[in-house]
Amino acid sequence: MSPFFGKKTEENAPSTLSQAADGPVATPDTPAPADDWFLPEDTRRDVVRLFERLAGPVALEVFTAPDHNAPYNDYLLTFLRDLSRLDDRIQVKAFAVSDDAAKTRGVDFSPTLLFSPDDLSIRYLGAPLGEEVRTFMEVLLRVSARQSGLSETSKKTLAALKDPRRVTVFVNPACPYCPGQVLNAFRCAIERPDLVAATCIDAAQHTEAATARGVGSVPHTIIEDPDGSLAPLAILGLEPEDRFVAGLTTMQSAPIRTDDPDAAHDHAHGHAGDVAVKEVDVVVIGAGPAGLTAGMYAARGGLTAVVLEKAMVGGQVAVTPQVENYPGFATVAGTKLMEMVAAQTRQYVPVIEGAGVDEIKIGRRIEVDSGDTVYLCRALILATGATWRKLGIPGEDRYFGRGVSACAACDGYLYKDAAVAVVGGGNTALTEALHLARLGSNVTIIHRRDAFRAEKHLVDALETEGVEVVWNSVVEEVLGDDAGVTAVRLKNTADGSTRELAVRALFVAVGYIPVTGLAQDIGLTLDEAGYIKVDAGMRTSIPRVYACGDVTGGVRQIVTAVGQGATAALSAFEDISHPYWKK
Ligand code: NAP
Repeated sequence: MSPFFGKKTEENAPSTLSQAADGPVATPDTPAPADDWFLPEDTRRDVVRLFERLAGPVALEVFTAPDHNAPYNDYLLTFLRDLSRLDDRIQVKAFAVSDDAAKTRGVDFSPTLLFSPDDLSIRYLGAPLGEEVRTFMEVLLRVSARQSGLSETSKKTLAALKDPRRVTVFVNPACPYCPGQVLNAFRCAIERPDLVAATCIDAAQHTEAATARGVGSVPHTIIEDPDGSLAPLAILGLEPEDRFVAGLTTMQSAPIRTDDPDAAHDHAHGHAGDVAVKEVDVVVIGAGPAGLTAGMYAARGGLTAVVLEKAMVGGQVAVTPQVENYPGFATVAGTKLMEMVAAQTRQYVPVIEGAGVDEIKIGRRIEVDSGDTVYLCRALILATGATWRKLGIPGEDRYFGRGVSACAACDGYLYKDAAVAVVGGGNTALTEALHLARLGSNVTIIHRRDAFRAEKHLVDALETEGVEVVWNSVVEEVLGDDAGVTAVRLKNTADGSTRELAVRALFVAVGYIPVTGLAQDIGLTLDEAGYIKVDAGMRTSIPRVYACGDVTGGVRQIVTAVGQGATAALSAFEDISHPYWKK
């Protein structure tokens, strides 16, 4: 895919996009001259290839108002015009928000995009940009075939739904987690068009809606019962498909409690009766750089393998705005790098997103229970990574998602004109601070020492950007009101004095903790710091179980993670295939 399908960048920001079309912007109904393309040629080629998979026509309706969100309107109209010229199965009708058609469809926002509105309720409020373009394309294909792509378990769960549901997902074009959650919602709307209505709202294009619903972090999902008898369910973050579907049907985010112990077990494990059993040589858990590389190396060695990922590919790297020290790239966006690694891995092995692992049983064959499917394998590679470390201070949990965030790539856009603070002194803190400063935020870094541990290169960049640093200080409390964070209380560690710093957001970047739940369940030995203990071949304390990447500690670099992934796969190959040169 061309860069157009990547993150929102200088090159594909809407203002630039709208200027790409010479003269007045054509609506999809206006014939455009043959050379008047908005999409670059390589992107058009990608689109034509993608549209070979269209199963039939897709009716799109777009609504705009000239005096609202003009650059986004122009972009959307021009983009859709190109798509309809590339394939006449993309049938676009453009209306004004003041038209009767808008009233009929219940549209009052510009721009709004509806998919097959005669029989589906799928809409974007705001033009799909950046990461959302991917979702848009996938939904086009799915709508053309009227196939949700949900698992059989999810389909069964949804088949039992009796009451209508309204799902709203707030997103931001640079958020790598958002497309997965939007797809969850749109797939449910395709599966149950009679009962599920799904809307994706770009929080930056529709700030009124985002403010009204208290959105301070994305993806932010609200599931409502339009009949009003059940309380709305608000969800922060990307969920695995089975959890999303369970939340949609039950309107509860916690695991279902039921008197039927078998049903409770089925739900907890994502089963609705039918479980497929698959045999592979190697199961890799986690699709960050380590896990993807392990999958690729296992397959290249001739082993059958699968990579299971509970959320989305890329791990921590996918939310790193810029990676600057990966060999071969002077600088590369974390999502872009991981897309490339994932695409390469997929040439060899399936990489299944949204596939959480509930349980592992060690026996002659290792059993990996992933809801719909139980994998029987000969070797297991754990690449479960690490998750952000909390500060553990008052207000941190209370304002999480309303100003407190651990992901500047996801949420920075919501605070692009505001005063924000970043806490921490490592590479992550400085990378996040630079990203926020470049978005336009007024950034202050708070660090508990008088020097950073981050690379000099990042420290120099921070100075160049003019980011303010508060040294020798810790955040004692996050303060706020009903709308979200208003300030942080700082304590100077040298003289004990305290003061308040007015900010709309606090980005926490104080390191990571390893994700070792599954490792602990099967009794793997951990080191004193809580990481999985491995030898030089990435072998753990249990034979045929390997670990790689951040879950093993060490210097935690992408370059070491991929090296460990390769090593783990090669060790697994040696241990289960016994090649002649190792005898
Ligand atoms: P890190 O290197 O462990 O740094 C964590 C920072 O948070 C430290 O400065 C630490 O202070 C501070 N801290 C920890 N607990 C705190 C608390 N309770 N209150 C206040 N401050 C606290 O973590 P990281 O920056 O997330 O980096 C993790 C790994 O990823 C590193 O290996 C890093 O190199 C790598 N990484 C690389 C890049 C890149 O592009 N090069 C980008 C991101 C991450 P002290 O310094 O006082 O301990």
